[in-house]
This record gives sequence, C-alpha cells and structure tokens, in this order.
Amino acid sequence: MTEAGVRTTCPYCGVGCGVIARPDGSIVGDPEHPANRGRLCSKGSALAETLADEDRLTHPLLHGRRVSWNEALDLVAERFAAVIAEHGPDAVAFYVSGQCLTEDYYVANKLMKGFIGSANIDTNSRLCMASTVAGHGRAFGADVVPGIYDDLEEADLVVLVGSNAAWCHPVLHRRLLAAKARRGTRIVTIDPRRTAACEEADLHLALAPGSDVALLAGLIVHLADHDALDRAWLDAHASGLEETLATARTTAGDLDRVAAITGLARSDIALFYDWFATTPRTVTAFSQGVNQSSAGTDKVNAIINCHLATGRIGKPGAGPFSLTGQPNAMGGREVGGLANQLAAHGRFDDPIDVERVRAFWRAPNLATRPGLKAVEMFEAVRDGRIKALWIVATNPAASLPRAQRVREALEACPFVVVSDCWPTDTTALADLVLPAAGWGEKDGTVTNSERRLSRQRPFRKPPGEAKADWWILAQVARRMGWDEAFAWNGPAAIFREHATLSAMLNAGRRPFDLGALATLDSAAYDALEPCRWPLPAGAASEGGRLFAAGGFPTPDGRARLVPTPFRPPAQQPDAERPLLLNTGRVRDQWHTMTRTGRVPKLLAHIGAPTATLAPGDAARLGIADGGLVRLTSADGSLVLHAAVSATQREGEVFVPMHWTHAFASAGPVARLVGAACDPVSGQPELKATPVAAEPV
Ligand code: SF4
Repeated sequence: MTEAGVRTTCPYCGVGCGVIARPDGSIVGDPEHPANRGRLCSKGSALAETLADEDRLTHPLLHGRRVSWNEALDLVAERFAAVIAEHGPDAVAFYVSGQCLTEDYYVANKLMKGFIGSANIDTNSRLCMASTVAGHGRAFGADVVPGIYDDLEEADLVVLVGSNAAWCHPVLHRRLLAAKARRGTRIVTIDPRRTAACEEADLHLALAPGSDVALLAGLIVHLADHDALDRAWLDAHASGLEETLATARTTAGDLDRVAAITGLARSDIALFYDWFATTPRTVTAFSQGVNQSSAGTDKVNAIINCHLATGRIGKPGAGPFSLTGQPNAMGGREVGGLANQLAAHGRFDDPIDVERVRAFWRAPNLATRPGLKAVEMFEAVRDGRIKALWIVATNPAASLPRAQRVREALEACPFVVVSDCWPTDTTALADLVLPAAGWGEKDGTVTNSERRLSRQRPFRKPPGEAKADWWILAQVARRMGWDEAFAWNGPAAIFREHATLSAMLNAGRRPFDLGALATLDSAAYDALEPCRWPLPAGAASEGGRLFAAGGFPTPDGRARLVPTPFRPPAQQPDAERPLLLNTGRVRDQWHTMTRTGRVPKLLAHIGAPTATLAPGDAARLGIADGGLVRLTSADGSLVLHAAVSATQREGEVFVPMHWTHAFASAGPVARLVGAACDPVSGQPELKATPVAAEPV
C-alpha cells in the first residue's frame, strides 16, 4: 500500500469502477480509472463498511466440525476421484461465479475441462449473460462487445432495453445523463416497468413482457421501408438481411400488429422508429430484461440485426451494447467458465480449438462436448446423475429458479463442497465448507462490460485460514495427481498462462487476444493499468471499437443477421395464476445480500422486499398498499408486503431478487420462478412466471 492507498476494482457490477483503499480505512473512487473517473454509486461508496470480519468463514468445516486444510483438501480430492473412477467424469460438477476473479475461473475451468474430462462447469453468469454470449456468437462468430463506454457519451440516441441502468449500472448511467445534459442525447427506455432509468428518458415504452422481439421486428421493417438501411455496408460486411426481413414482416408487418403484440400506442412506436431511423449515432444498451428470458438469444439478435442493418456498429456513438451484470461476468466468459465454452473463447465444435487447447494444457482428458448448463446441472444433482458438486462463491439455494428443488438436490447429493466468504443458504447444505478470501484480500483481474481488464489488488489479510479460490482449486488438482499443470506460485503466473493461451488460440482468428500481456512479470502484473482487449502481441495501445469495417470472426468474415420469429414467454398467465412475476435488483443491494445486507445505510433505501402491483390489479384483488400478499406459482408460494404503484404495468408483479431466508423469514423469490430456459443459451426466464396473488 502506498501513501495514497491501493488501487483496486469494485466487486459489484459490470461497470467495473476503480476504487482506492486508503491507509485510513476509507475507500474512494479512483479518479484515474477510465470506467468511473472517480465516481462511485451507493454500493461502491459503502465498500469500507463491508469489511468487518464478523461472521466470516475462517476455517474449513466438515459437517460443522473444524478440520485442517490438509484434511479438507485431501477429502475433496479423494471423494471427487472416487466418483470419477466409479461413475465417470460427468458424475461430478463445478458451479462457479461471476464474483470469481479471472485467475480463479481459469484454474477451475482447466481442472474440470482439461483434467477431470467433463465440461460440467457452469457459472451463475448463466443467469446473467448467457443469452448475450449466444447472440454475439450467432451474429459475430465470437462473444465480443463491439463498442466502448465512450459511445454512450457520444451517441445522439441511447435506447435502454430491459435495463434499469440507473440502479444496476449507476455510474455508467450517470455518465449518460451528464452527456445528455451536454449534448441533448435522447434516451428511450423499453421496459414493462417504469424504473428509475425512465425518469430522465424522453420516451418510455412500457411494452408487454417478452414482446421485445416483435417491437424490434417492426423496427427493422420500418428501417427497410423508409430507406434507412446501409446497403453498402451490408453488401460488404453482413449476410442474412432478406431472410431476417421476411421473418420480421411475418411477425410485425405493420404498426397495428406491433401495437397489438406489445400493447404500446401506435404513436409511441412510430416515434421510436422514426428516432432510430434518423439518428446515425444510436447505441442500444441492453441488460437482464433481454437476457433473462426464454427468448433471450433472439432478443439479443433482434437488437444486433437493427444495428447491422444500418451499419451502426463499432463507430463512435453507435452500436449494440451489452451491460454485464457482475464484476467479472466477462472474465468468466474469457476463460470458458460456461459449460458450452472451451477456454479463451474456444469452441467445442471447432476441431482447431479443441486440439490447440489440448496441446497447450497437455490435457490428458480434455472434454470434447459441452456440459450441463446451470438449471440442467442442478436437475442432474437432484436425480443422482451428479454425485459430487463443488460450488464456488455463489448461493444457488437462494438464487436459482425453483430454489426449493435446488435445496432438495443439495440435500440428496452425496458430496457437496462450498467455498465462500460468509455462511449462506447454500453453505448450510454443504458437507464441506471451505473459507475463501474475499474482496480486498484476493489478487487478480476482472473484465468489465467494455472489455476492460482491471486489477483487483489485496489490501488486507484474509481472516483466519481463508484462502484464495485459485489456490484451493489448484491444491485439489495437485492432490488428484496433476501436480505439474497446477503448480503456479501466484495469480501472475496463472494470468500469463491465460494470456498465452488466448493468443495461441485466437491470434488472427478472433479479437480475444491478450498476447501483449503474455510475458508480464510479477512486477508488471502488479502495476498493470486498466486496459481493453484486443491486446495482441506488439500492440501499441489498448483495444478500441470493433467491426466498423467488418472483419468479423466468422468463416467468411461477414456478420450474420439472424431471423428471430416472435415467441411470447414460455408460461402464460391464466385464470388460476393471472399475474406475471418479474424479479430484479433494487438500487442498494447486491445478489443475495451476503455483503450489502450487512451495511445499515444500504438498507435505508429499501429495507425489506415488497411485491409491487399496479393499482388496478391491487384493487381488483383486494390487496392494500402495505398489506400482506401471498404470491403462489406452480413451484411455491411466498408471503410479503404489498406495494401499490403506478410504475407497475397491469398484469404484472415485481419482487426484488435479493432477500433470502437469512434476511426475510419468507425466503427467496427464486423459489417461485419456473424452470423455462432459452433453448439456445440455457438462460432461465426470471422475469415471466405466472403467479396468483391474494391478500393474507
Ligand atoms: Fe461498483 Fe457498479 Fe457502483 Fe461502479 S457502478 S461503484 S462498479 S456497483
């Protein structure tokens, strides 16, 4: 720590703000970090208050009994090896997290896919960004965000789709509002709810849940019919326009049809289409309202289609822009943390990737096909196909759909290991709990929504015997007989290996290339400044916008417009369950509150979960503002206080995702959420579960 403090990165959202941990214990925004330039939101500003060691997990616990690290690590290695020997590698699984650092993620992925020989490693990013990963892959040939944050400040029109950026990406949203004040940027929000992000918007389109694809189909038809396509760019760089337009015309041939599907006024739709058609500098930023859907991948591609059709991609102030939820959702994607990825953006269906990864890792048992995605994985645990499970830095017993079934799965699983910092709903169901080092104690890198790597640097010691996740995973790998491949002496060595693999796999083929960082020594790694990829060997500067002049990582170098037929949410309301349950974040809480729930001032904004209903629904159902309401889905029920608000669309109810058994006796809202998933990405539909609501 210098006199000024330690420069590190906020552990919450995908904006990836730089912070400085000062010697006096305060934590402030880093004025030199390009993502935030010194700004912090309420969560980032309260980081210093999350650092108390009270309640931390400090020693390995086997069925609640303290054991040594040697005993714990030997046990994990023995139990996993025994299951693999008897039932094969697909009988074990890892479920990891966007809270992991890239180095942690790399080790977990290498162990499972390269050495155990299964791709049964998935991450809670499956709940966050999987549809974007799939949509990027279909359109661009690889998972690449074309734009950079500056585009939100250089655009004349910013369309926020399914994104309450004011609460979920606050610092980036403030950058957008500052730009609006400077240059009059128009903002359109597309969201069934009137969220905080709608307050400064010029137009809010409160569309019917899940009807985004129809709205966007109407948009691309409008662009074609009003001579707003960039034919020259399309001819040079993209394919699939005619099929895409034909499908869009079938879905949304005219304004009346779009209005009927979306429930929007024709005049509002027409205004949005006109603004989009006539504004070359347009950014469409999207988040969980797009991703967390059984049609999430189609929604992503419908957005990208409109940008490809107008050539608005990778140019200043123009492009489709995915806002990632977690601090390292992007880093996890880079190492192959999802069950359908290989490593370093490698693909299972590309023989060159498979052979290069096998050779690089000298992997004895490289997995050659995708593994089970999160929802499938816990079903496999429940029905006994998976007999040993290791969960790292996440709380699926409170956050996955059908949370009660997840709890049952964990109770039935012969061997469950959980690495975490604090006790959670999930550690309570583990056979073995491993104490993990947390934010401020860990050392590594994360990547934010604009492809920018930043260092997370330690400035305090872990409590008790807590250890870094990469170390725990590597120790188990070495005990399983793979000593040489997991013998790193620290995160810098892991990062070098990861960067070398990225270059070896992708140089000249895909943008994810960190070759310029492949030879960093420990001092250079310690001093690494925030930098955006691509960073190929010899790069003189960080990566910038991508694809304005084509060069997509597809076999023919062309982007793909993807036909996206409209599908409504998988489950529809009916007489028994007439409302659609939407779940999401509140401003000052994070995930299942293991960190933010300990800070009194963060509970001052919203201190308890409520079910927010529209006034008409509340009156019809006899539910009073502040009264108790029972919500019942096909999978469970929950009693909580009602809030009646005109921000809510008729026919819907919103409940925040954060509160669990630890903070509200009623339990997590995830127990109500159904199991429908996007057929391409496997991402669960977290925003459209039919429920009944009744006063209690
Ligand atoms: Fe942290 Fe996100 Fe807030 Fe920045 S915007 S301080 S990264 S929570």
